[in-house]
Amino acid sequence: MADVLIHNISLLATPQSADKARQSNSVLRIPRAAILIQDGCITDIGHEAEITARSPAGIPRYNANGYLATPGLVDCHTHPIFVGNRAAEFHQRNAGKTYLEIAAAGGGIQTSARKLRDASPEQLIQESLPRFHRSLTCGVTAIEGKSGYGLDWEGERKSLLALREIGRQIPQHLFRTFLIHALPSSYSDRRADFVGDVIENMIPAVAHDKLSESVDVFCETGAFTVDESRRFLTAAKNNGLSCMVHANQFGHSGGAFLAAEVGARSAHHLEYLSDEEIRALAAAGTVGVVLPASVFFLGNLPYPPARRMLELGMDVAIATDMNPGSAMTESLPFCMTAAAIYCKMTPEELLNSVTLNAAKVLDADSQIGSLETGKCGDVALWNVPDLESLSYHFGELRAAAVFIAGRVVWKDNDATARY
Ligand SMILES: [Zn+2]
Repeated sequence: MADVLIHNISLLATPQSADKARQSNSVLRIPRAAILIQDGCITDIGHEAEITARSPAGIPRYNANGYLATPGLVDCHTHPIFVGNRAAEFHQRNAGKTYLEIAAAGGGIQTSARKLRDASPEQLIQESLPRFHRSLTCGVTAIEGKSGYGLDWEGERKSLLALREIGRQIPQHLFRTFLIHALPSSYSDRRADFVGDVIENMIPAVAHDKLSESVDVFCETGAFTVDESRRFLTAAKNNGLSCMVHANQFGHSGGAFLAAEVGARSAHHLEYLSDEEIRALAAAGTVGVVLPASVFFLGNLPYPPARRMLELGMDVAIATDMNPGSAMTESLPFCMTAAAIYCKMTPEELLNSVTLNAAKVLDADSQIGSLETGKCGDVALWNVPDLESLSYHFGELRAAAVFIAGRVVWKDNDATARY
């Protein structure tokens, strides 16, 4: 928790909670701005001359050097807890095999599960930690992390405990999710037993030990059926956990309708999505999380119909889906570029999607996701001339500086060169 006056901001760009209540994706732009943060929270914000004049004498000042200021970004969907990599599978796909073919042959998620099972808790933490740092350098101040490569309880518990330990070591806000990802190979001929185990033992243990706030399920061909997913999510709700769904990635799996039916906070992927499914999600108030990096990286799927989702009144968030199989990137700005090109989203919609809408997915939009008085002092500074350039200069864009609760937690020493 810190006190700081961030001044000399050439342009401040932020969504506003009041606009979101009206389902708007507008952005407030303040030229020559300053932000006053006290005790880690934003207490004043606006034009530099006014804010400076009414700031307390002696408050520490931070010169933003004429950079763009946005809220710290929120990455609301990642799978960061794994060991080793799956580079070989990436090239197998490029040689013609599909994701589902590789999975059916015992690769994919099962490859990560084997490696995770053989790793010590310490190795799991040490290999996963740098991903959070790279995410931070991309301006991300709040991040969701899923388990899901443990598969059985021993591996899932190890993953969730690793996430908890990492949360103590990193400066970002970390939100943990228990992901029911695939049938463990040890249960390959006992599918019903696994489903029963998840419902009767694993979900109650996650809730009892406070290992995560949310439960997510991969409702897809080759993973879990709609009926199984419904039973998992019902158990999650009965245990006081909130619900997310990996839905409609490889086809109209029924996952989107299920997310609407159970009132899930969010439905993720949505590459295949009809108007009827969009209307159901919009009516349920479920946020649609699009993951353009995984569409880009898999190379054979359609991009989600984000324009149609916006037209029909859904809130849309963008996340990296960072994972070793289908989206090996920590760069949320890259995902904004992909969503601009392939989902035809505007700069204003893009900013809302990686800040306030993403915070809504994590049920944290009252504390983070916009630069407003009363909210957490999480700010990203960018050495770009305007908001439009955030999604324009793609592939290597880093934040110039990142604040969390008013404290500088990342500074790019090369930031003097403008992107
Ligand atoms: Zn995912």
